[in-house]
Amino acid sequence: MKKKILIIEDEVDLVKGLKINLVDEGYEVEWSFDGKEGLRKALDETPDLIILDIMLPGMDGLDVCKELRQKQCNIPIIMLTAKGSEIDKVIGLEIGADDYVTKPFSVRELLARVKAHLRRLKRENKFLPNSYTIGDVEVDFTKYSAQRNKQTLEFTSIEMDVLKYLITHKGEVVTRDALLDVIWGYKSYPMTRTIDNHILKLRKKIEHDPAHPKHILSVYGSGYRFVD
Ligand code: CA
Repeated sequence: MKKKILIIEDEVDLVKGLKINLVDEGYEVEWSFDGKEGLRKALDETPDLIILDIMLPGMDGLDVCKELRQKQCNIPIIMLTAKGSEIDKVIGLEIGADDYVTKPFSVRELLARVKAHLRRLKRENKFLPNSYTIGDVEVDFTKYSAQRNKQTLEFTSIEMDVLKYLITHKGEVVTRDALLDVIWGYKSYPMTRTIDNHILKLRKKIEHDPAHPKHILSVYGSGYRFVD
């Protein structure tokens, strides 16, 4: 079955160009020029991946992304950002996007990311049970959530994948490169701080004191090590 990509972007020419390239690659493409309509399509038509611009009429992309995550929608989202403050917002705020590219971007680069995110979804985690206990946090991998003191914590699909990978390599040093390669599927990904950002978010969810983590430890100069 064809994978369906939803583009939410108001620059008509950009949408046209992306559509041609994505269809060429064998994807089915839906699009919307408006934030609110895009949000509705994302929920109604359950695409496999969303390409989401930030500056949009109706509702901006950051709000669309946040709303989707609040509605427990775990579809991979690649944000399109202009330079500067928008990037900081995407990686700094807890909006739950999986990735971003900066305008102007090369279509080839975006296609590589799309492929990597779709491949990531297919990867199985054979050696993990459906749930896992870390301290007083009970993680449910099937629901992308965890329970702590009767409070429910939600995870994005990337956060869940990073956590699964760390857990399956319990006690070992996991390098940022390994995480980039395993989670995103290619090593040349330039943004190692994206990894650090996902780790920060994970720590906020599972650590009692995220500034002094007891489970996801930093290994100076190389990466991370998980202990439970
Ligand atoms: Ca725009």
